[in-house]
Amino acid sequence: MMSVSLQDFQRKELIKKLIESGIKEKKVLDAINTVKRELFVSPEFKRFAYENNALPISNSQTISQPYTVAFMTEILKVNPGDKILEIGTGSGYQAAILCELGADVYSVERIEQLYKESGIILKKAGYGVKLKCSDGTKGWKEHAPYDGIIVTAGSPSLPETLVNQLALGGRLVIPVGDKHIQEIWCVTKEKDKKGKDTFTTDKYQYFKFVPLIGDEGWKNA
Ligand code: SAM
Repeated sequence: MMSVSLQDFQRKELIKKLIESGIKEKKVLDAINTVKRELFVSPEFKRFAYENNALPISNSQTISQPYTVAFMTEILKVNPGDKILEIGTGSGYQAAILCELGADVYSVERIEQLYKESGIILKKAGYGVKLKCSDGTKGWKEHAPYDGIIVTAGSPSLPETLVNQLALGGRLVIPVGDKHIQEIWCVTKEKDKKGKDTFTTDKYQYFKFVPLIGDEGWKNA
């Protein structure tokens, strides 16, 4: 008989809550049901790993709330084989979810300690994410263009460099607003009839993120 751990049970309960909150995409729910969130939180918070809350990680940053991760991932519309850039690696949890969806994942984190810690955790958990410690508002030019870019920190405006690193049909999902509250925007790159690049912006609900700090973000915390 297969044994079910407490975490397996808690993960299933979390999935029920996400469905009740309006998350519909089965493959996103399956990814959340597969990734062991307890591996990405500090030992003192492990028992809260499957509560639908953001939790503190080092350097005064956070691992996002599971609902936020699910919502943004659903909008990103990831297909297997897509090249996805994440800005704000943090704990590495969102990057692991993207890997479970079959994406080729690149992730940039500006804080060295988080870059190092997430690298160790992702490797240990078996996720081959390409990581870089840098200002993510500048993207990761060497690997552009991307089928999707997800920014997991709140920006005062759209970083133009990131928009320019989108592939045709690509989507940039980013929280935009002031330091207290941000609206999720999804910018899609398409071509018009004359072959000129066009960008459509859809706006979704409000969340609260830590600030995106960098050249094309906030200049300070
Ligand atoms: N995706 C993360 C996860 O799954 O744990 C959540 C990350 S946390 C909400 C936002 C992260 O963005 C923080 O780790 C912060 O250091 C990082 N960040 C802020 N500004 C950044 C920038 N310009 N470039 C890269 N990372 C940045």
